[in-house]
Amino acid sequence: MTAVGPGSKAKGVIWLLAALLTGGAVALGLPFFARQIPWSMEQRLAAWQGGLPDITASDVTRNKETAALLDRVIRRVYPLYPADREFPVKISVIRGKTVNAFAYLGGEIYVYEGLLQQTESAEELAGILAHEIEHVRRRHIIQTLCVRLLTTGAIRFIFTGQGTVDPQLAGMLLHMRFSREQEGEADEGGLKRLADANIDPAGLQGFFRRAGQRPTMPTILSDHPANAARAELMAKYRPAATVPIMDPVEWAVVKKACR
Ligand SMILES: [Zn+2]
Repeated sequence: MTAVGPGSKAKGVIWLLAALLTGGAVALGLPFFARQIPWSMEQRLAAWQGGLPDITASDVTRNKETAALLDRVIRRVYPLYPADREFPVKISVIRGKTVNAFAYLGGEIYVYEGLLQQTESAEELAGILAHEIEHVRRRHIIQTLCVRLLTTGAIRFIFTGQGTVDPQLAGMLLHMRFSREQEGEADEGGLKRLADANIDPAGLQGFFRRAGQRPTMPTILSDHPANAARAELMAKYRPAATVPIMDPVEWAVVKKACR
């Protein structure tokens, strides 16, 4: 029988405290270290995941005409700055009714058909893409992954003594939640990008306002800044002049290609 005296209990508390302090210090410095991870390594990590589950390319990207129209939207917001070439992004429209778009490891950005169907103009999509591109460019995905892996790993180690990696890694990445600070950064960077690309940001604001009025809250709204905060940023990053991306008839062709 093992003797459990007050001495070993105090030792346990000290050990737990030390672990928490170390964990906290590492977590605070982690975003910095995560940013130093080479882009090539992040791309390899994305490939190692073996792709994402339930990702089927939409007819929007399969059809030549709609793919060209989609490309026109993308080219307005990316590449825009010289630094954009450091972290190349690839944007794909995928099947599914979810009103969402998300950035994945290695610069992969996915937009659900459900989101396209909720848009009323190419400007609205451009605004959402600009936001997701900023998550990629600021290395938010790898940062969040590192913090999540470390914190879940540390908690498991403290309580079970086992240092295994989460088997639900792919699922965790798919449902990644960024911090409020990261969302704020992506929102500000995205609106600045729209202004620099001479795109009217009113479309994006309209999208979020309409989405907020729906009976069920779309996924994209659950982790994005409030309309008031965005309105303030829109006033700060007002484009000098706006140039339409395409006419409404062309945008209707893109939406029609969704199932
Ligand atoms: Zn976001």
